[in-house]
Amino acid sequence: AAVDVTKHFAVRSAVGARSVVRAVEGATLDLHRGRVVALVGESGSGKTTLARLLAGFYAPTSGEIVLEGAPVRQRRGRVERGYHKDVQLIFQDPFGSLNPLHRVRHNLERPLKLHHGVRGKAELDRRVRELLERVALSPVEQFVDKFPHELSGGQRQRVVIARALAVEPKVLLGDEPISMLDVSIRLEMLNLLDRLRTEDGLALLYITHDIASARYLCDDIVVMYAGEMVEGGPKEQVIADPQHPYTRLLVESSPDPGRGARDREALFDADADGLGEPPSLIDPPPGCRFHPRCPFAMDVCRTQAPPRADLGDGRWARCWLHADRTTAQENE
Ligand code: SF4
Repeated sequence: AAVDVTKHFAVRSAVGARSVVRAVEGATLDLHRGRVVALVGESGSGKTTLARLLAGFYAPTSGEIVLEGAPVRQRRGRVERGYHKDVQLIFQDPFGSLNPLHRVRHNLERPLKLHHGVRGKAELDRRVRELLERVALSPVEQFVDKFPHELSGGQRQRVVIARALAVEPKVLLGDEPISMLDVSIRLEMLNLLDRLRTEDGLALLYITHDIASARYLCDDIVVMYAGEMVEGGPKEQVIADPQHPYTRLLVESSPDPGRGARDREALFDADADGLGEPPSLIDPPPGCRFHPRCPFAMDVCRTQAPPRADLGDGRWARCWLHADRTTAQENE
């Protein structure tokens, strides 16, 4: 879980001016074994930064990452070693995340040796074969001695997933894992991820900009906008009846045959200024970060960040339109 996690990066411009990128602000997220949470947002919404925080690539500026009830210890900005074994991150580009100089066999044997001390050719062979079969790369002989460039994009991503499974993680984080794949094989990949969460009981965070694939795979949806989580809850309810104006924009602009782009235009015609561009995370708008694009913005939205409102049935939203249902804790 991520508990009230914030990540700021100090950056320096070409002319030497210092500024702070507020990439993730007060994010709280719970993952459970056998369940899939989709983290949905545009590029620049902070979802990749959050994935990297969860994967232990860097430490939060404040807040903490908790694994099975225990806060993950950090030292000099790095998480303790064992954590990387429990939480594996799959990137968007399967080609970039495999060593191009090594065959599939080597790419899979390495984590088996490193994390589980597997030794001996016969045992390594058996484990590699098992991994490739789990990600449906069979007959195994066709793939095991290939180099990454000899495989298709989908096959490469399966090898990346097999390598993550070799570590025997508890949590799998997929950062846009299908977006660089051919449309024709995206569904197969989603089915593979779905099978891994049911058969292996993995907790899966599926990060995407695409509501349609989130709807297909996940149990719960969390929506991020400009570094903040703005809405969350069970997928069916969130998609059928979004409670945050940004979620509504996302849903209505997603290519669902039942919905046309016209709805979206009607909703956002009222405030065409600034539409289309997410705000800068160096100098985000005060108050609600969505207010420059929101047709419902009120005075309070321009100055005060909306608190989290509990909407029942596991649903919540951060929007002043729901101020009457804000939790007591947030009002203190
Ligand atoms: Fe719109 Fe205000 Fe809600 Fe932000 S808080 S989404 S500006 S109504």
